[in-house]
Amino acid sequence: MDFSEPSEAVQIKKALDEFIDQEVAPLENEYDEFLGADYEKEIVDDEHRQVPEYRNIVEEIRQKSVEAGFYGMTMPEEVGGGDVDILTRAIVGEHMSNRPPGFHSSIFGGAGGPTPILLACDDRQREEYLEPLMDGEITTCFALTEPGHGSDAHYMDTTAEKDGDEWVISGQKCYITNGPYADFAMVFARTSGEDGDLGGITCFLVDKDNPGFEVGKIHRAMGMTPGTHSELYFNDCRVGEEQVLGEVDKGFQSAMDWIGGGRINIAAGSVGTAQFLLDMSVEYARERETFEKKIGHRQGISFQLAELATDIEQVRQLYRYAAWKMDNGERARKEESMAKLRGAKLANDAADIAMQVHGGAGFMKDLPIERNYRSARVFRIFEGTDEIQKRTIARELI
Ligand SMILES: Cc1cc2nc3c(=O)[nH]c(=O)nc-3n(C[C@H](O)[C@H](O)[C@H](O)COP(=O)(O)OP(=O)(O)OC[C@H]3O[C@@H](n4cnc5c(N)ncnc54)[C@H](O)[C@@H]3O)c2cc1C
Repeated sequence: MDFSEPSEAVQIKKALDEFIDQEVAPLENEYDEFLGADYEKEIVDDEHRQVPEYRNIVEEIRQKSVEAGFYGMTMPEEVGGGDVDILTRAIVGEHMSNRPPGFHSSIFGGAGGPTPILLACDDRQREEYLEPLMDGEITTCFALTEPGHGSDAHYMDTTAEKDGDEWVISGQKCYITNGPYADFAMVFARTSGEDGDLGGITCFLVDKDNPGFEVGKIHRAMGMTPGTHSELYFNDCRVGEEQVLGEVDKGFQSAMDWIGGGRINIAAGSVGTAQFLLDMSVEYARERETFEKKIGHRQGISFQLAELATDIEQVRQLYRYAAWKMDNGERARKEESMAKLRGAKLANDAADIAMQVHGGAGFMKDLPIERNYRSARVFRIFEGTDEIQKRTIARELI
């Protein structure tokens, strides 16, 4: 058993640190209003849309990330990617989360960037969608959740009906990350079968200016970069047959094949965030004195840090084991869900402990802890809620 990090991960982490120092940090200094205490007011306009100055920064970092080879790092070489495996991607993701909030989150493009779901593209779609996406020229979004169905997304109300050689999509999606800015959406709609069938759902590539497709309300989300998520409407939205991604009726199953990697990335990101908060807290506990003694020498404080350090190590080993299994072609449903479940809890616990150790200073916006406290909460909800992870684990057991 080898617990050392793959040498590729070590190299990428080093290269990313240099990239952030050279390309991202100067932008963070120049546009510090987007990271300060009022970031939520500065980033968006009155309609909660991100302002052009902020969008330009995101796009500039994306372009530089493409040139440096980070952007499509996890995609296969045949489509211009770096062919980095799941374990390496996750270790790099942990490293990237182990720093204060900043513009570095744009380096990998998040939910709007390259995704393996698009490996199902045919030759024409590769040229029109995947290649410009890999080059950072356009972005996408993953439109599955609806107001009526999230955890049970395969009960969706959105339909697509065949009319000659066109499909007519009708329905509504919500909470869609990068929805307001995506050049095209990957939209899931029922094309046959009954409510709840996993089959009978098709994925369509819908351009932002396709008649019948409209961005709806931009959501106001807790602790996240504002202006990122929105509703999407499809009112008799007609697309040609050539806009079907992969096979008709098989879109849901193929998308689900890629979900596991996302869960591992969330667990890895949680470990990075928790490590960042632990390190801050240890440093503070070494310095802060009350009753003529460092608070770090009180068990009330040091035991909280000991528990957190133990939980971090547990989740780190768990996500790495899950990633290793996936990279070796083994079934890892249970381990992916376990890592996501415990990772989400870890991120929340870490923010809570860091705030407690810092007392009033942790509660104020001068330190990044309160932002982490708010942004951690979503980890228990998206990419499958806690309860859905437990459901998956239980199903694998029983
Ligand atoms: C910030 C953010 C970004 C998102 N980005 C995207 C995106 O880009 N694309 C996209 O398609 N979706 C996105 N989502 C949607 C997300 O995937 C869903 O919110 C999530 O799957 C939960 O669905 P829901 O909100 O409808 O909750 P529901 O499914 O209605 O669940 C409500 C509660 O019931 C529980 N529950 C549900 N079923 C069961 C069960 N069988 N047993 C026990 N408990 C159960 C849930 O765990 C939860 O606690 C995003 C959400 C957020 C918050």
